[in-house]
Amino acid sequence: MSVAQAVMKDWLTKNAGQTYGNYIAGQWKDADSGSLMARYDASDRSQVLGHFQQSGASDIAAAVAAAETAFGTWSKRPAPERAQVLLRFAELLDKEADGLAYRCSAEQGKVLAEAYGEVGRAAAEVRFAAGEALRMNGEVHPSEKPNMVNTVMHQPIGVIGAITPWNFPIVAPVRKIAPALAYGCTVVLKPASLTPWCAVYLMELLEEAGVPPGVVNLVTGSGSEAGNALVTHPQVRGISFTGSSELGKRINAQAAGQLKKTQLELGGKNAAIVLDAESIDGAAKQIVGAAFSCTGQRCTAISRVIVLKRHADAMEQALVSEMTRIQAGPAWDEKVGIGPLIDQGQLESVQHYVQLGLEEGAQLVCGGEVLTGANYDGGAYMAPALFRSVQPHMKLAMEEIFGPVLCMIEVEDEQAAVEAANATVYGLAASLFTSQHDACWRIADKLECGMVHVNHGTASQAHMPFGGVKQSGYGAYSIGHSNMAFFTEPKAVYIQY
Ligand code: NAD
Repeated sequence: MSVAQAVMKDWLTKNAGQTYGNYIAGQWKDADSGSLMARYDASDRSQVLGHFQQSGASDIAAAVAAAETAFGTWSKRPAPERAQVLLRFAELLDKEADGLAYRCSAEQGKVLAEAYGEVGRAAAEVRFAAGEALRMNGEVHPSEKPNMVNTVMHQPIGVIGAITPWNFPIVAPVRKIAPALAYGCTVVLKPASLTPWCAVYLMELLEEAGVPPGVVNLVTGSGSEAGNALVTHPQVRGISFTGSSELGKRINAQAAGQLKKTQLELGGKNAAIVLDAESIDGAAKQIVGAAFSCTGQRCTAISRVIVLKRHADAMEQALVSEMTRIQAGPAWDEKVGIGPLIDQGQLESVQHYVQLGLEEGAQLVCGGEVLTGANYDGGAYMAPALFRSVQPHMKLAMEEIFGPVLCMIEVEDEQAAVEAANATVYGLAASLFTSQHDACWRIADKLECGMVHVNHGTASQAHMPFGGVKQSGYGAYSIGHSNMAFFTEPKAVYIQY
C-alpha cells in the first residue's frame, strides 16, 4: 500500500461509521421515522461510511419552516455581507480539501485527483457567486409621465428546494446553495440518497463560515419520500433540480401545478465531432478524458465520437491507445485512472447497454467486461468500452448510458456529422475538433446544445453559464450570471417626484 493509500485508509478508519442527523434551523436532528440508511465506500463495500436519516414529509416541513423564517432576515442582510459569508465558505472549502476529497472519493468512487478537482471547482463557483451578490443590478427606464422615475429591482424569491444527484456530491449542492445565498434566498437541500456524506460536511463548513441557522438546511432520505415532499411543499418557491430527464419532467409538471419556478439540469448524450486528420491525436486524449472521468457518470460525458469515414481507422487506433493506458481500480489508489461505478445497480444498467449494443450490431472494439479478481472484489468495476460501427438511430447512440461506454459513428461529411450530433432528444454539451477556423463558428452555430467546446473536452468553467436545451435542461442555466433569472424576480417600482 502506498503512503497516500495508507493515509486515506487511516483517515477512513478514524472518520467513518458515525450516525448523522438532518441539519434544520442550525440543529442536528433525527428524522421522525426513526429509521436510518447506511452508506458504503464505493471502492470497498465492506466499509460503512455512515448512517444517515431516512426522512419524510414532516422533516421536510420542519426544514422548510426554518428556511422560511430565516428568509426574513437573510434576504434583508446587505448583499456585500452575504458575499463575505460566502468568501469565508470558499476559504473553508480550500482549507478542508483533504477531508472533502476523501469523503467524495469514498462515497462516489471517483479517483482522488478528480475529487480534489471537484473541491477546487466548488470553491471557484462559491467565489463567483460571492461576486454576483454585488451585481444584483436593477434597471432605470424612461417614464411615460413627467417627474417620474421607473425602476426595476431584483428580489430573492424565497425558499429554494435543492435536489441533487450522486455523481458530484460536492459541486452539485454547492452550485445551488452558493447562488441562492448570494441572491438572498434560503435553502432546503435533499442530496442523492447514495451520497449524503459530503452534504453533511458542507453543512458543518457553512455553519463555520457564519451562515445563520435556518438559511441552509439538510434533509437526507429517498427521492420518492423526502424529495417528493420538498417538490410539493407549498412554501417552497423554486425547485433547483439536477438529475435524470425523466424525473425532471415529472418534477416540472408537479411544480407547474403550484406555479413554482424550476431550474432543471438534466441528462445528456454528448457528441464529439472530429473533422480532420491532424486533430485526431489531440482529440483522442481530450475525448477519453471527457468520456471516462467519473467513470463516465457525468451529465457532460462525451459518449459519441462522430468522425469522417476516411479518418475512422486512425481515430479508433488513437482512442484505443489512450484507453488502454487507463488502469481501473479502487479510487484511493493513485495509479488508478478510473474508479468503480457508484454501485452494483449502476453496473448492471451499463452492462445492459453493452449487451444491447452487441445485439444492435455494433462492434465492440475494446473493454466492456465486468472486472473481477482481488483488486475488484469491493466494488462494481468494468473496463471502459469502445464501440464502432454504431448507427445514429441505435439505442446505444440515442440513450444516456451514464457509464464508461463510448460509441464511434462514421459519417460522410460535415453536414452528416452535425445531423448525427443533433439526432438525440438531448442537448447538453458537444465538442468539436478541427483546425479549420471557419468550421468552428459554422458548426457551433448549428449544434443543438447548451455548451460547445472547440478543440477541448466537455469541461465547464465557474463563471460561464452551464445548462442544456431540448431534454437536457429547462429554466435558467446554472453558474454564471444567468442564475439571477431563477433566484430572483423583478419588481417594477414607479416613483413620482
Ligand atoms: P435521479 O434523477 O435518479 O435523482 C436525482 C435526485 O432526485 C436525487 O436526489 C433523488 O433522490 C431525487 N429524486 C428521486 N425521485 C424523486 C421524486 N419523486 N421527487 C423528488 N426528487 C426525487 O438522478 P441520479 O441518478 O442521482 O443522477 C444521474 C442523472 O443526473 C443523469 O441523468 C445525469 O445526466 C443527471 N445529471 C445532470 C447534470 C446537469 O447539470 N445537467 C449534472 C449531473 C447529473
